[in-house]
Amino acid sequence: MRIVLVGPPGAGKGTQARRLVEEYGVPHLSTGDMLRAAVEAETGIGRKVKETMANGGLVPDQLVIAAVIERISQADAARGFVLDGFPRTMAQAVSFDDLLDTEGLALDHVVELKADQNVLLDRIVTRAREAREQGGAVRPDDNHETLKARIHAYNEQTAPLVDYYRSRNILRSVDGLQPVEVVASDVFRAIGQGRSVI
Ligand code: AMP
Repeated sequence: MRIVLVGPPGAGKGTQARRLVEEYGVPHLSTGDMLRAAVEAETGIGRKVKETMANGGLVPDQLVIAAVIERISQADAARGFVLDGFPRTMAQAVSFDDLLDTEGLALDHVVELKADQNVLLDRIVTRAREAREQGGAVRPDDNHETLKARIHAYNEQTAPLVDYYRSRNILRSVDGLQPVEVVASDVFRAIGQGRSVI
C-alpha cells in the first residue's frame, strides 16, 4: 500500500499516518521527522536546513527528494509506505512520479485532510501554549508567526498538488477537523477499506 497524506500544518497528517501504518504494516515516512532528526544530530544536512525550518519555509527540493529516494529504497519500504509531508511542491511530486515509474510502482491513494486554516492556527497555538505551561515538549516552529509562514508555504507550493492528484483520479478528500476517530473512519472509507474505528 502506497499512500501520500496531504494537508495544511496541524491538519492531523501525523496522527492519521500512525493509524494507516498500523493497519498496513508499512513504514511511516515523515520528511519533517527525518529533517528534525538531521537538525538534532547536527549533520551537514541538518545544519543546512535548520534556519529554513525554524522560519517555516520549505527546504530545497533536491535535498528532500534525495532523502526520500534513499529511504524508500530500504527493505522495509518494499511493501509500501505512508508518506507524511512529502511531496510538498510540484517539483517533488513530478520527481517522485518519475522515480515510481522507473521502479514500476504507483501510488494507491493520495489522502487530503481538509481543514480551515484559521481554526488550525488557533488550535496549534493553544496546544503549544498548554504543552509549554505543563512543561511538555513544543516544536520550535509551532508558534504563531512561524505557523503563518508554514501555512503560506502550503497554500503557495503544496495546495496545487491537490488538483494534480485529483486529475489523476487518486485523490481522496476527508474533513480533517472532525474528531480524530471520525477522521480515521473517513480515511479508511475513502481508500476503500471502509470499517468503523470508533
Ligand atoms: P512537518 O513536520 O511535515 O510539518 O515539516 C516541518 C518542516 O520541515 C517544514 O516546515 C519544512 O521546513 C520542512 N519540510 C518537511 N517536509 C518537507 C518537504 N517535503 N519539502 C520541503 N520542506 C519540508
